[in-house]
Amino acid sequence: MEYSKECPFCKDTRFNNNRLVNLPTEDSILFENDTIYVQVDISPLCLGHILIITNKHYLNFFETSNEIKKDVIKLKENIKKVYKEVYNSDVLFFEHGSAKPGYAGASIDHAHLHCIPYKFDIKKALNDTLGNSIECDILSSSCQFNNKFSYIYLESSQDSKILYKVEKLPSQFLRRLVSEKLGNHNYLWQEKCTTVDSITNLEQTILDLKNKIFI
Ligand SMILES: [Zn+2]
Ligand SMILES: [Zn+2]
Repeated sequence: MEYSKECPFCKDTRFNNNRLVNLPTEDSILFENDTIYVQVDISPLCLGHILIITNKHYLNFFETSNEIKKDVIKLKENIKKVYKEVYNSDVLFFEHGSAKPGYAGASIDHAHLHCIPYKFDIKKALNDTLGNSIECDILSSSCQFNNKFSYIYLESSQDSKILYKVEKLPSQFLRRLVSEKLGNHNYLWQEKCTTVDSITNLEQTILDLKNKIFI
């Protein structure tokens, strides 16, 4: 499958890949305002896998405006409540923040925060691979992070808010790690998104969360 070369998270081109493989487009958008939108991942790692995405093209959330950060903070609170209600679960938030395109293991260098129901401890696996983390809220104005580095950001009620400074990571690094934890070894979205499992999760996540995500 030859996927679109254009950014799949920029507004004008965001449904290119969904269209190509005949997956829901507008329907997969769960929330939208002037700064951000929430979309079901094109190839959910599990039920409830959604993304908070900036409307404008930024490399990562650290470099976004305060207005965007405030909206993301509000959305996160809403998503925590909704996941409790719908999935009886906490939320695992993670971001692969690239300082340069192609770094930090993101396959798409447009700021997006992954949200998935929390079912496992990912911190240990990250510590083993990436070394020590620092406590840091990427959305806080007091964050002392130096934007010259790429980072992996992780947040859950269990692990609080932590950041790993990273050098170049393989593409879809976090997808692979999370997939392994979930016992699924098919992690590449390009291959997974047309499987029955993935399509079922995508459609069910839309049904589960439609009209529930708001600020
Ligand atoms: Zn973009
Ligand atoms: Zn991603």
